[in-house]
Amino acid sequence: MRYAETGYNLEIDLSTGNIERVETDPNLTKLFLGGQGVNARIIWDRVGPEVKPFDEGNLLIFGAGLLHGTPVVGCNRTSVNTINPMTGIFGHSTMGGYLGPEIKHAGYDRIIIRGKAPKLVYIWIKNDKVEIRDASHLKGKGVRETTRLIKEELNEPFAQVACIGPAGENKVLTASLEHNWNSAARGPGPIMGDKMIKAIAVRGTKDIFVAHPQELFELCLKMKKEIHASDGCGDWMATDEDDSFHHNNFSWGNSRTRIKNYWSKELQERWTRWKYDHMDRQMGCYNCPKGCINIISWPGHPRFGYKCYGKDTYHMSAFKELNYSYELLGYCQDYGLDSYSTPQTLALGIELYDAGILTDKDMPNFPTDSGDRIKYLIEKVVHREGIGDILANGSWHAARIIGNGAEEFEHNTVKKMEQLPIKLGKLNPAYYLMIATGEKMAITQIEGSFPQDPIRDVEERKKFVEHWDAVPSQIFKDIFMKWEKRDEMSIEDTCLVTDWNEAMHYVDDSTGLCGFVSSFRGQFGGKTAYSFNNVPQIIKLATGMEIDKDDLWEICRRNRTLIRAINNRLGIRRVDDDPPKDHWAVRNPELEEKLLDAYYDLRGFTKDGIPTKEELYKLGLDYVADELIQRGILDPDEGTPSQEAAKKEQQKSGGC
Ligand code: SF4
Repeated sequence: MRYAETGYNLEIDLSTGNIERVETDPNLTKLFLGGQGVNARIIWDRVGPEVKPFDEGNLLIFGAGLLHGTPVVGCNRTSVNTINPMTGIFGHSTMGGYLGPEIKHAGYDRIIIRGKAPKLVYIWIKNDKVEIRDASHLKGKGVRETTRLIKEELNEPFAQVACIGPAGENKVLTASLEHNWNSAARGPGPIMGDKMIKAIAVRGTKDIFVAHPQELFELCLKMKKEIHASDGCGDWMATDEDDSFHHNNFSWGNSRTRIKNYWSKELQERWTRWKYDHMDRQMGCYNCPKGCINIISWPGHPRFGYKCYGKDTYHMSAFKELNYSYELLGYCQDYGLDSYSTPQTLALGIELYDAGILTDKDMPNFPTDSGDRIKYLIEKVVHREGIGDILANGSWHAARIIGNGAEEFEHNTVKKMEQLPIKLGKLNPAYYLMIATGEKMAITQIEGSFPQDPIRDVEERKKFVEHWDAVPSQIFKDIFMKWEKRDEMSIEDTCLVTDWNEAMHYVDDSTGLCGFVSSFRGQFGGKTAYSFNNVPQIIKLATGMEIDKDDLWEICRRNRTLIRAINNRLGIRRVDDDPPKDHWAVRNPELEEKLLDAYYDLRGFTKDGIPTKEELYKLGLDYVADELIQRGILDPDEGTPSQEAAKKEQQKSGGC
């Protein structure tokens, strides 16, 4: 008997219409757990570097987390993985809500989709019944209407629907997949459009069995109460009306302008009034007692939901106030646009116009007001009209297509993907490594278990360390106790901190835990719901697998290394491990080179950022090593292929 998982994948080939329920290999669970971990293994096996993102051979995988559908609280992040057409590499994409657990209850651990449908379709899964249904009548429809119509025509009010809007249909590279006010960005939106899938609707009513039900239920009931009562769990920015952090520290416009003392009491009062006068309710995700999503009905405009910084990106890109975002968010969510990367691309368009690189010929009747300009560009991008057809490819590609110096204005991407518009003073070494080397593409997915800043007062520091629930070993307490200045942490300690921060994210991505009760929370000290100290025991109670802290850490390392190898096979090398050049005002190139060297050493990568044969064999990824060697990417002895070879791989794998 398989516990916590169903033991089956659902495989759908849209080109042939073939649908299969396929038994899975339990060894993959032991090696990669589930969610993104197993998805990565499937992508390694089946999506070689010859496959371009928009080829039929590219897969779109909806991976439920290993613990989805069990009583484990706050466990609902679905990993939706594919080769991202914006970056040309593995797309890290997760979303909250209800989809992953519903997939599990329908009897599957993941849905693997390949091929392309000849016309627009949606996929309907009700337990063992799976249908590819005509979606011609949904063409061009927004997310809310699509969801409503699908539920109505199926007569299934409890079906979980994830769908794209017109942006995804038009293969806008900043399009997202939307589900219950949650979204999966960084690949799934345009890939759904390319495969001609408007939506996926799931209803599952089967049980998930766990290995030790009584103990697990008792533990989870206790944790549910604790999570509910804890200020440290959930997205506190959903209820904290002081948003000085984002507005004073993040950049406005095209991620360039900081307004240091923007926030005021008067502003806070006005924005709080706007919010609560128009908030319908706060809602949460599957089996979670927190309510992180604010649902707003702004008069005369479509309803929308947001968490955290998601409400700020549009008005900050237009140098406006919150009411501007409130006007816009319903439309943008309905269009299915990622609210992180899209506003930056639009603001880039405005800068290029102001600089004379784009002209009235490119943007006829371009308004003068910045808010109207953003609205003008949204319509163009969503429908890929005129200049919108270029901006729809995201900042990196758009700047290079436009040329004529536009490249200089594009400054906030890593591996061709927009990053959060944060501009800081001095380099934070651990964040340098995570931003530069990761595949996650946005700081929200890397903020981790170790604090971002030291505590100056020693007594305060001691107190923090004493009550630091997430900390997995004394080593990190020692590092924190001796840490005095942000940019002064030893290289060795920096690598250890990075390793821990990254590892916790790979725990979430494979089990399906939400970062707001897990990886994201350790940095604030005190009690954190999930950490390396309790997740192994929870996995054991749910699955029956014997697993301890070290085993879990090794699985995270394996997942990290496999995804790196997928990206190496697609051409990623050291030269690509480069954060936005103005992310920190004070850079230290010499230190950064040393940090990269030390990090690669810790990870078992070559000097060029490729996992060594020895490391791959150690992690049971010998087939990965063999293929990298056979392709000439990895030298079995020295392991440092030329930049020439890397370039060739990148050219082969494409991007958009
Ligand atoms: S903490 Fe918030 S975002 Fe996370 S699962 Fe719970 S409700 Fe969803």
